[in-house]
Amino acid sequence: MNTEIFNAKTQKENGTNYAGRIIRSGGLVAFPTETVYGLGANGLDGEAVRRIFEAKGRPSDNPLILHVAKKSDVKELWSHVPDNARRLMDAFWPGPLTIIFVKSDIIPDEVTAGLDTVAVRMPEHKTALALIRAAGVPVAAPSANISGRPSPTSAEHVINDMDGKIDVIIDGGACRVGVESTVITLVGKPTILRPGGITREMIENVIGEVDVSPAVLRPLKDGEVAASPGMKHRHYAPDCRVVVAEGSWRRAASIICREYEIADAMGERCVILGTEQTRSCYHGMNYDIIGDRDDPSSLCAELFAALRRWSGKVDVIFAEAIPESEQGLAYMNRLLRASGFNVLDR
Ligand code: AMP
Ligand code: MG
Repeated sequence: MNTEIFNAKTQKENGTNYAGRIIRSGGLVAFPTETVYGLGANGLDGEAVRRIFEAKGRPSDNPLILHVAKKSDVKELWSHVPDNARRLMDAFWPGPLTIIFVKSDIIPDEVTAGLDTVAVRMPEHKTALALIRAAGVPVAAPSANISGRPSPTSAEHVINDMDGKIDVIIDGGACRVGVESTVITLVGKPTILRPGGITREMIENVIGEVDVSPAVLRPLKDGEVAASPGMKHRHYAPDCRVVVAEGSWRRAASIICREYEIADAMGERCVILGTEQTRSCYHGMNYDIIGDRDDPSSLCAELFAALRRWSGKVDVIFAEAIPESEQGLAYMNRLLRASGFNVLDR
């Protein structure tokens, strides 16, 4: 298949109108959002949605998020709109928050992997909104990467994974947030299933106390059922080992220096994903400063790009753990999964 690439700036109107028609007629379009690039199909067409799973190699038991261009669209996607959903939508839509509630009967089983709930989000990215409007249907879209790899935060990442497998890629530059949306379910006690740019603290300011699924920061135990099917699959893995060092920045940096020397002496190619605070600790080593520990959103924005940058080029990536408050929770969720929970704390 020939994949057409449009530039969101120079080919704005034509590109989104054309891509919208492709989606409506059953094709696949990768598009930028403020979180990561999405791989979109007509969310009301089960056959089109099946193509997403094929192109990504995504396990069919992992449900998709429906993307809408206006808040009132949720009325036809959920059985009804609960009060706390309304408040969250008013506070955070358009934006990086996905809300799960009981589905209506127009949603194909392919979208929800047979569950009786459906996840919905209204993105804030202008190109994403223009595309959804042009398509005239809710757009089912997971991240536009081969399943298991780090999510794409630039069109180049999408091209690497999807060229020749999908109809269109819209290039809108780098994604602002850099990690996928926060996912919250409002069925039962509100529970965050996946942390993201909208933090637990921000959500609790609007609807009061929420739970955070325990699977956010640890692997599932044997026999434990994932609240979100996506939690049980290997995720975000580059083509090399990832090792996370815990503790204060001094402690994490000293663990990394020690382990780096051991790996280096054994002939392994290494890189350290460092931070502004630890820059001076890694003198003479191969390091890549990806953000500021005091601003976890800067680390979120760069993590996937950094994992892809070093994937296959080194044998091991060392990274520092950061505190799990605010956007640090989203960062640690992605980093721990990318490492397969490979953590050094001594
Ligand atoms: P992605 O498409 O890669 O952004 O992943 C979407 C995430 O939302 C995955 O972790 C899914 O398992 C989760 N998800 C989507 N729909 C539901 C649902 N109805 N119930 C629980 N989790 C869901
Ligand atoms: Mg994904």
